[in-house]
Amino acid sequence: MRIIDVETIVFRYRSRVGTDIAGHAHPVEEHDAYQTLTVIVTDEGVDGYCFGGDREMNEHVIKPALVGMNPLDRERIWQYLYRDLQGSRGLISSGQLAVIDMALWDFAGRYLNMPVCKLLGGYREKVKAYASTMVGDEIEGGLNSPEAYADFAESLVKQGYKAIKLHTWFPPIEWAPDPEMDVAACRAVREAVGEEIALMLDCYHCYSREEALRIGRELERLGFYWFEEPMDEHNVSAYVWLADNLEIPILGPETLEGKIWSRLDWMLTGAADIIRGGVKSLGGITPLMKLVHLCEAFGVRLELHGAHPGNLQVLGAMGIPGEYVERGLLHPMLDYESRTPWLREKIDPMDSEGYVHISQKPGLGMEIDWKFIEENRVDAD
Ligand code: MG
Repeated sequence: MRIIDVETIVFRYRSRVGTDIAGHAHPVEEHDAYQTLTVIVTDEGVDGYCFGGDREMNEHVIKPALVGMNPLDRERIWQYLYRDLQGSRGLISSGQLAVIDMALWDFAGRYLNMPVCKLLGGYREKVKAYASTMVGDEIEGGLNSPEAYADFAESLVKQGYKAIKLHTWFPPIEWAPDPEMDVAACRAVREAVGEEIALMLDCYHCYSREEALRIGRELERLGFYWFEEPMDEHNVSAYVWLADNLEIPILGPETLEGKIWSRLDWMLTGAADIIRGGVKSLGGITPLMKLVHLCEAFGVRLELHGAHPGNLQVLGAMGIPGEYVERGLLHPMLDYESRTPWLREKIDPMDSEGYVHISQKPGLGMEIDWKFIEENRVDAD
């Protein structure tokens, strides 16, 4: 059994989501957007798929490295790409590594006709969701005030969500960040949804210790469930200080580099009460499962970042919390349910009780809409 090719399919779709110069998503006019699909082609007549991946990287680095290797040797391939391709190592991001690793897991699942969560060791088939809002904006009808967050939160509760996480206002908005506005939004949402709904805050990521402490104390008064990334995550000692000074659990690190090793440092130093991980930041399912087991050994909770199919399969195999799957990013002017036209079924369908059901279809569980992809292909092949 061997890998014979690594392909990248590029296709066009229509989107109403755009990003500002800080990289944050907002609603915009409908426009053409592009998605890629990385395909691990094997000599078994079964392939592995993962959306994402860079065409140049796949063609010039990944393909020459992988052709001839056994697609079931996921650990060997991960170590080879991460450790041994020294010259290219800096170029292969965690996100790119994750795409390759997940395409290999997808292959294994399709080859064995089994969902990845069962290959990993199944634990559960549904997980509670939290609604994760887009960051604040200044758009009419958008998330432009504490009251707008409160109204949106009420509508999310009506949709079945039992937990909501606010992303508040960030630069390039001129007056942002503003700790008082963050707290005002949190207070308005708490008043709107009552005590039964779990609430979390993910605010500006470079506040000072004092600003983070002030916000954190307000969140404690409002009964928030966790406090996420209020300071630069490179500053471990500041997080140790914050966690020591607050009762509310601190969640992190999310955007910090360093894969499982930086998470281990956060566990050892007590910089966070709940560890953050995910396929994209760690480099795939293979390293993420190592973090799951590390957290279990340390008796620490682990919350995953985003509703990626890979994260969902890992959540299905986690015997420790992961209590939630992050569903979003959500905005009052956008329909989240129709945002992945390249899939025949939503990967994170939520029931009226607020649970996401994990796909039990083979591999990553994706029902790829090949007709849509073929009709919208833009790559030359
Ligand atoms: Mg976050």
